[in-house]
Amino acid sequence: MSEIREFSTPDTPEFSIRIPDTSKPRVILIGGGFGGAQFVKSLSDRDFQLVMFDRHNYHTFQPLLYQVATAGLEPDSIAAPLRKIFDNKKNFYFRMALVNKIVPEQNCIQTSIGNIRYDILVISTGSRTNYFGNDELIKKCFPLKQVPQALDMRSQILQNMEKAVLTNDLRIQEGLLNYVVVGGGPTGVELAGSIAELKRHIFPKDYPELDLKRMNIYLVEGSPKLLGAMSEKSSKWALKYLQEMGVTVVLNSVVQSYDGETVYLKNGSTIRSKTLIWAAGVKGNVVPGLKEECLQKGSRILVDEFNRATCYENIYAIGDVAAMITEQYKQGYPMLAPVAKQQGERLALNLNDQVRGRNWKPFKYNDRGSMATIGRNKAVADLPGGFFLKGFLAWAAWMLVHVLFLIGFRSKLIVMANWIWSYLTYDKGTRLIIRPYVKPNNPAAEEPLPKEVAAHTPGAEKTAATSAR
Ligand SMILES: Cc1cc2nc3c(=O)[nH]c(=O)nc-3n(C[C@H](O)[C@H](O)[C@H](O)COP(=O)(O)OP(=O)(O)OC[C@H]3O[C@@H](n4cnc5c(N)ncnc54)[C@H](O)[C@@H]3O)c2cc1C
Repeated sequence: MSEIREFSTPDTPEFSIRIPDTSKPRVILIGGGFGGAQFVKSLSDRDFQLVMFDRHNYHTFQPLLYQVATAGLEPDSIAAPLRKIFDNKKNFYFRMALVNKIVPEQNCIQTSIGNIRYDILVISTGSRTNYFGNDELIKKCFPLKQVPQALDMRSQILQNMEKAVLTNDLRIQEGLLNYVVVGGGPTGVELAGSIAELKRHIFPKDYPELDLKRMNIYLVEGSPKLLGAMSEKSSKWALKYLQEMGVTVVLNSVVQSYDGETVYLKNGSTIRSKTLIWAAGVKGNVVPGLKEECLQKGSRILVDEFNRATCYENIYAIGDVAAMITEQYKQGYPMLAPVAKQQGERLALNLNDQVRGRNWKPFKYNDRGSMATIGRNKAVADLPGGFFLKGFLAWAAWMLVHVLFLIGFRSKLIVMANWIWSYLTYDKGTRLIIRPYVKPNNPAAEEPLPKEVAAHTPGAEKTAATSAR
């Protein structure tokens, strides 16, 4: 076996990872999302040296990405700098880098800035958009997993409007003004509702020359109902609200192909649209290097009740990328922020306990319910104990929960101020084309993966968990 040394990148020998040697166990964490951030907060900095890698220098609050994409919030209010979040942590090092490969036989990871050894590895790399093997869609539609993608979508929506005022050709206008959102989970429902609100409250003021009756928003869902992971009541009310807002909901239909101009549905119908938004599924974002038998259909890392990867002693996975199979969750826990946070916390507390000679506790999910917002005063919430909320109450509860979950007082304040302003004025403040979206080379359509990563993440099958969002 060849020796893997910690080294600098060959093309930039003057730069290296620069983590000091330590007598404490070195924990390497990949990913500063919900799971990773909670893990850092809960791990004792007296007992471990903790090194976090993330390809971005910020934590993304994904549940509000759709508001950035539809000009409701600035990106800065839903992203928090990772160095700032953990500036009071000792023995903590952050490195902005892409982790390309895990080499478990040598307790080492390979990154875009060099290699480094670990004593304990925690993988919290989240999930990525699942196109179910339809490569053509990757190039032409808009996913929503990252801030740059949300900004691209915002630019595209506004550029469509700016172009639409320049033509009398109704066929061209149709393509510019029509939106097709694929996937009737919370993300698809929230996006469709939010675009419908732009049409209703914002665009009539901004584009009085346009006949907005010609603007159509379609929500296409493969199953017979919306919000499949939520209660029957939530599904029905979401459908009712969307229809009231003028969204055309197409159930039992899947998108077969898209050429950038026309969306072809499997049932034979077609929709002219320049903007196809893909919210139909996600799959685990697995870094290559782990044994195949350690993975669930190649798309999530199989873990035991302590989040330990099944094939390894010192590798753990938390959050979206981890598949912890239980009696109740046969495909693993749903890909949700509270699951990731709770797993991050439990794992950190177990590692702290281990140092003190205490036994590990298995992970137990505390499910506090789920919510989806459709529009102004329109939301649904399934609460513990079978309680159901809808309308203004659910909408207010949704806002409160999201503000509380946001990281940092500044973000909470800005988001709240934006929402109050929008509520009172029916306005949205961020209708800016700062970075014009350029087709066909959509740089953020899907972050290019290293070859090995791409080979490792085929179109995974849709599971109950992956279809949850
Ligand atoms: C649009 C949208 C809306 C959502 N809404 C909700 C909601 O309302 N409620 C809810 O509970 N959940 C929601 N979710 C799901 C929720 O965001 C995820 O379940 C949660 O983010 C999972 O946390 P995580 O730590 O596993 O991964 P993430 O939060 O995705 O974090 C993964 C991190 O790993 C980094 N990373 C990945 N690969 C690498 C690599 N190779 N090298 C270096 N860094 C890497 C990424 O940059 C990222 O920072 C939503 C998701 C999306 C996309």
